[in-house]
Amino acid sequence: MLIDTHAHVNFKSFENDAKETLQRALDAGVKVINVGSQIDTSKQAVELAKQFESGVYAVVGLHPEHTHSQYVDEEETSFRSREETFNYDEYKKLAQDEKVVGIGECGLDYYRLPEDKSLHARIKEKQKAAFTLQFKLAKELNKTLVIHSRPEKGNEELFTDLINILDTEGVQGLRFEVHSFTGSPEALSQFLDRGAYVSFNGIITFDKTGNMEKLVKMTPVDHIILETDCPYLTPVPHRGKKNEPSFVRHVAEYLAQVKGLPFEEVERLTTENAKRLFQLALP
Ligand SMILES: [Zn+2]
Repeated sequence: MLIDTHAHVNFKSFENDAKETLQRALDAGVKVINVGSQIDTSKQAVELAKQFESGVYAVVGLHPEHTHSQYVDEEETSFRSREETFNYDEYKKLAQDEKVVGIGECGLDYYRLPEDKSLHARIKEKQKAAFTLQFKLAKELNKTLVIHSRPEKGNEELFTDLINILDTEGVQGLRFEVHSFTGSPEALSQFLDRGAYVSFNGIITFDKTGNMEKLVKMTPVDHIILETDCPYLTPVPHRGKKNEPSFVRHVAEYLAQVKGLPFEEVERLTTENAKRLFQLALP
């Protein structure tokens, strides 16, 4: 059994094949956590989870890029992000569903800031405010916090800002993960020191810089979980195809290689880690 801890089968690219994609994952021995990015995709993640008796879960929350409106050109899709203000009570109600195992994805994204620099300070403040509220909600409901962090190229200010919030709010008693982390080893060790789990995806299979390999090597095996972040970030050998949860196997295979561990060991450890982190009631 493998667990794709971060999928977006709740997104538009799966509107015609969400159920069969999830069934294909379950048939391949892969459990799935679908992650929301704003209120509609969060609700959709819960709806999808309810369509399966077990093995499909939801995380609900507001992605930093949806705290302000702008045009986003992502790998395989482009869209205009919505401007949504985090509504604590609405998300709290949604998060109380038994299928919801976490809050997010939330955090900071300085990668796609608009060209007009005069807007940056205000956007960053909005992102920080939404993240802080979601941090509080995760603590209040004892749900796992799923953190998105995408820095500006060559500038790690974002990690300083994130760590500041973690330290101000206090991570004691909080279960949390940094998903799709691509910062420096120094930034990663700040999160590891505070008890973070780290979620790796297809990027490790095609990164040519050597940075991801360093990050995988330095993360202790009892704090690694796996994800696809589908439909984005398709792993080798399926580059060019739409990513899906069943492809998480390739991430596990590659990770086993880098860590010098048998595949079965990576499968066992990452599944145990994900069960512990998200408190999943799985055999
Ligand atoms: Zn995501």
